[in-house]
Amino acid sequence: MATFRCPICGREVKIELRIDKEPVGGLHEVLVQHESHYVKVYIDRQGVVRRAFPVEHFTSVDPPLYTVYIFEDRAEIVDGRGHVYVVEPNQLAEVVKKLAG
Ligand SMILES: [Zn+2]
Repeated sequence: MATFRCPICGREVKIELRIDKEPVGGLHEVLVQHESHYVKVYIDRQGVVRRAFPVEHFTSVDPPLYTVYIFEDRAEIVDGRGHVYVVEPNQLAEVVKKLAG
């Protein structure tokens, strides 16, 4: 478990990593999605976060039709045109159940 302060929103973020390889150059480079923004984090062998940078540009090429972000209090579904639909997490669970069923 590693913690760091998000350089974009200032909140403390906890990340759980399963690292079994030696880091390249002594530090593990990790791209973290925190809510709707991205942070690049460097973690040493002891699991201590050494640096955290905001990722200013994040582009997904060939984006999926829908991307789902799940937060503590809500879920957001973003379609391919960038429209955001906010739903209750339990509503989303119902939809997923229907799709899976
Ligand atoms: Zn943040």
